[in-house]
Amino acid sequence: MSVVEKLTMALGDGSVEFLDLTTPLGRETPILSLPEPFANTVGLSLSAVSSFDDAGPGWAWNDMTVGEHAGTHLDAPVHWISGRDGKSVDQIEPARLIGPAVVIDKTAEVARNPDFLLEPADFEQWEDENGPLPDNCWIIFRTGWSARGSNAADFINADDSGSHTPGVSPAGARWIAANERVSGFGVETVGIDAGQAAAFDPMFPVHWFLLGADKYGITSLRQVDKLPVTGATLVVAPLPIVGGTGSPARVFALVEAS
Ligand code: MN
Repeated sequence: MSVVEKLTMALGDGSVEFLDLTTPLGRETPILSLPEPFANTVGLSLSAVSSFDDAGPGWAWNDMTVGEHAGTHLDAPVHWISGRDGKSVDQIEPARLIGPAVVIDKTAEVARNPDFLLEPADFEQWEDENGPLPDNCWIIFRTGWSARGSNAADFINADDSGSHTPGVSPAGARWIAANERVSGFGVETVGIDAGQAAAFDPMFPVHWFLLGADKYGITSLRQVDKLPVTGATLVVAPLPIVGGTGSPARVFALVEAS
């Protein structure tokens, strides 16, 4: 039996399960909101072309307006000035979008401090405990943040000093970007940088270093608590928008049934 046949059989008999890590994309899905004087993107809206009416008696279909960076979405290198000569979302090879997921769990730390930042020592500790990162991996930052996903205010967690959501320090972002085994970084929050990252040096360091190093980001992941620390395969499926800086994406994990 071929490897693909074995996988198909394992999916069919439930010994390998699909986990959907995607936030449903609707009108209420929380999106990033930048402060003045910056412009903002829009979330999803649908307008009916026809709905079983005179405009189309037997069929319903919608036109859709949505920002590239709405809901669970992929950040492509050309999203950032450090990656502006890099790949747009349609140019990312499928082989980079499917790979092993490794989970770094800071749920307890984030519960105590929503501004928690990953440092190089956190990645080094992960490797001490689990071995070297696998080739072509996606580092998934487990924070428990998606539990806030049904309430936009809790999810963005803003006060007078801005948004307070976990992320990565500039040194931590440099560490990921310099690691040739990493293809991407995934988070449960609205963006791949911390809520306070506009004040970091450089500003928004995960965007700056990763997108400048041909690595990708995915955001607003759900069900990350159900992922094993190692052993899952991630499938990231953005639309191939020609010249796009990102795209809403469906993100699945293949997980061995326990
Ligand atoms: Mn984005």
